[in-house]
Amino acid sequence: MLRILPAAAGTGIIFRRVDLDGFTVEAVGRNVARVSYATSLMKKGVLISTTEHLLSAFIGLGVDNAAVELDNLELPILDGSARPFVEMVQKVGLKAQRRNTFGFLHDAEAMRNLGLIRGASAENVIVLSADGILNPPLRYEDEFVRHKVLDLIGDLALLGRRIIGRVVADRAGHAMHTALVSRILRDRSLWEETSGEAAVEPALVTRRLASGVA
Ligand SMILES: [Zn+2]
Repeated sequence: MLRILPAAAGTGIIFRRVDLDGFTVEAVGRNVARVSYATSLMKKGVLISTTEHLLSAFIGLGVDNAAVELDNLELPILDGSARPFVEMVQKVGLKAQRRNTFGFLHDAEAMRNLGLIRGASAENVIVLSADGILNPPLRYEDEFVRHKVLDLIGDLALLGRRIIGRVVADRAGHAMHTALVSRILRDRSLWEETSGEAAVEPALVTRRLASGVA
């Protein structure tokens, strides 16, 4: 079960475990738990796993505030992409909220990483062998790079702020993405916060969902 509910301006993205009395884990860098083939959050021992595709969908759609309810520790993988999440949100629409939540980052350049994508089933994972792709067809010719970007955006969402800047990732993976998030959050000299007026795009409002979706 996964349900996405509107949240007040300034809430950010929060996950709520309804099977644990509504225990809340905020989607922020300090709650990053462990990363291997997916990104997991943990707070006081409560785990939320595989957050990157939903968070990436939120960033792409411009959702800044939402409460995501789950009755277990793992977000559904669905078809392995962010599309089902995007369609869920688009079905109910978004509502503008008055308040700026803006971040400004100077160019952040990721370093090399031995990122490996591993997965569970042939339906939501593309398996590579020495001879090529084992389970075609791909949705897009450049699906690999699209998926790497999807994961990157979803992990950088853990900054809790929008990035105005350019991100360069070279053979990055979840471990590198989340290490970058921690590094940026730790070192305030790397970035500055800016209000809407100074921003590149005139996005003076935050957005939440118009209603809940399940
Ligand atoms: Zn992914």
